[in-house]
Amino acid sequence: MNFYILTLFPEMVSSGLHTSIIGRAVSRELLSIRTINIRDYAFNRHQSVDDYPYGGGAGMLMQAEPVYLAYEAAAEEIRSRRPEAEMEKKPRVVYLSPQGKTFSQRMAEELAEEEDLIFLCGHYEGIDERVLEEIVTDQVSIGDYVLTGGELPAMVMVDTISRLVPGVLHNDISAESESFQENLLEYPQYSRPEVWHGKRVPEVLLSGHHANIQKWKRQQSILRTRERRPDLLEQCSLTEEERAWLKKS
Ligand code: SAM
Repeated sequence: MNFYILTLFPEMVSSGLHTSIIGRAVSRELLSIRTINIRDYAFNRHQSVDDYPYGGGAGMLMQAEPVYLAYEAAAEEIRSRRPEAEMEKKPRVVYLSPQGKTFSQRMAEELAEEEDLIFLCGHYEGIDERVLEEIVTDQVSIGDYVLTGGELPAMVMVDTISRLVPGVLHNDISAESESFQENLLEYPQYSRPEVWHGKRVPEVLLSGHHANIQKWKRQQSILRTRERRPDLLEQCSLTEEERAWLKKS
């Protein structure tokens, strides 16, 4: 999977995404993460890419043309790798914006199906609307708060999507049993020693009885979701037996 990140701060994105699990996946060529510096496409000698908004208002706005040229550089690279029949297909471009649809695990699963994704990071007061209209296919927010730039949101999205690319996690099962799968939160987990600060690991986990362990994990997930995210539990399909058990628990 190939990520292109259009940003004014490529070093911020690169250093964050070339470490740990994602960094290893890049070295193993399961992912490529290419940053494109929008400032390289500035058309004045000061390399400035922002200007005052028409009609006044606080702060500066990123101009349309450098953003468009940075996008074209990424799109051209994508086109050059595509088979001829798909060359006209526009690449998916995500603009990170507090005004976008809220990011979720489900959205990450859908985006992980793409071969190429372009992320556009805004800064200052945002970006000239005309270039957004022309190139952006999805506007995504990482939550109802305002950050100084789209770099952290882009990193959050790339990290989340990358974990879903086959081979990125050592054990692909771990992505399947995590929080938000089937609208449940993950069960509590324990490692050695068996007793720590007087707290024992639940007996069933030491029993070696696979079926009982699976049942315990599922029940713990259900209880935890009811306690912490009852909104999720409403969307979860529980068996009749589980519903009856939950009523009594
Ligand atoms: N003036 C804009 C508004 O009120 O909608 C906010 C601009 S914000 C200060 C600068 C940039 O940070 C945005 O263009 C966007 O790329 C990014 N950003 C800020 N908050 C975000 C969020 N919650 N999710 C995604 N991107 C965000």
